[in-house]
Amino acid sequence: MINETSLKNLVSNPSCMDDYDPNAMPVAKAREFIQQFLNPVSVFETLALAESLGRVLAEDITSPSNVPNYNNSAMDGYALKATDVSASRLMVIGTAFAGKAFEGTVADGQCVRIMTGGAIPKGADTVVVQEKTVVDGKFINIIEAPKPHANVRYAGEDLKLGQTVLATGHLMRPADLGLIASLGIAEVRAYRKLKVAFFSTGDELVSVGQPLQTGQVYDSNRYTLFGMLTKLGVEVMDMGAIADDPILLENTLLSAVTQADVVITSGGVSVGEADYMKLLLAKHGQVMFWKIAMKPGRPLAYGKVGSAHYFGLPGNPVAVMVTFYQFVRDALLRLMGQSSPVPLPMFSVQCTQAIKKMTGRTEFQRGILFADTDGSWRVKPTGAQGSALLSSMSLANCFIVLDESVGNLEAGAMVQVQVLDGIV
Ligand code: AMP
Ligand code: MG
Repeated sequence: MINETSLKNLVSNPSCMDDYDPNAMPVAKAREFIQQFLNPVSVFETLALAESLGRVLAEDITSPSNVPNYNNSAMDGYALKATDVSASRLMVIGTAFAGKAFEGTVADGQCVRIMTGGAIPKGADTVVVQEKTVVDGKFINIIEAPKPHANVRYAGEDLKLGQTVLATGHLMRPADLGLIASLGIAEVRAYRKLKVAFFSTGDELVSVGQPLQTGQVYDSNRYTLFGMLTKLGVEVMDMGAIADDPILLENTLLSAVTQADVVITSGGVSVGEADYMKLLLAKHGQVMFWKIAMKPGRPLAYGKVGSAHYFGLPGNPVAVMVTFYQFVRDALLRLMGQSSPVPLPMFSVQCTQAIKKMTGRTEFQRGILFADTDGSWRVKPTGAQGSALLSSMSLANCFIVLDESVGNLEAGAMVQVQVLDGIV
């Protein structure tokens, strides 16, 4: 097991670990390394139920009652005794609405008109649906006998008194809000929001709204990062686009690490850069620099600067997104308190086009999943796959994940896809 002391050792002497090669780091291994340093924030807050959407529970939710808390009808029909299911004719002695019970008792030969959700009256234990009956004044004729005890929803069928309904570490989704509301619980304890600061690095970067000179590019990474982070539900702190200037970079980095739980930068971690970021990170923290066996997204840095986690992402716009989804997303969910984040769903489908691919690295090609004319879902690549082509990412609704062992593929081959739409 690796801890913070060993992070220090690892950074100062990478070869001290067997099979650890920072220059050829497999995707899965890098992910494992990062996971070992991730402890969730330890500050909690009490939130109104509706405010807890997208937050992580810091308490177990136990059911203070049975849900439903009384036996009730699953259908509109008539409540009767199980011993009367074969009776052809029953007298209707009243009505039970949802929210307005019938107070009397059903005796042999009798029934009560009942609406969905209405409490099953005393004496009754079975419901015949109204479509299987014919009304005849104060009587009904049963055309088709129900099974004894049919169409009854029992108390505690959904949740039992004292049952753990949701556990600490659960990420709250719309169904969970409703589930907790169904218990009558108005407030929950949650981990506080994770604070994530980010900035771009590069002399060539210009912020949107400014004119662009030859040799300059608009800073798009801060916008994709803003979008991905906001969807994850963290508190974002945009620290700007910072020129490759050691003093400016140092000031920005130090300001970021004192304010945020996590700092993310893009650019400046690849070989051949003016090495300011690397020097700064070595001076102020313990950061590992890897060349990941993947495309796009080869350079990646991870470590701690002060008490903040640091992710140094590549500069290329597609590489930023790929490395975010493959490494940062899972890490942030853990830091937010989620006990076992669900990985991006991955499954195999047929690819309608041939794919060029080198073995020895994992490729995350941008793909479009579509319903083919025969109704089967298939995938096609978005087209050119350069790591600077953000349009490929915008067109895509999935990654086509080609692992290290995969080489060139013919059209029609099965490939793994990782769906992007609808994920956090
Ligand atoms: P770097 O990793 O700094 O060498 O950057 C690699 C490539 O990504 C270069 O072409 C940069 O101009 C580009 N790049 C770096 N940062 C950004 C950014 N924030 N927005 C758009 N492109 C960027
Ligand atoms: Mg740069």
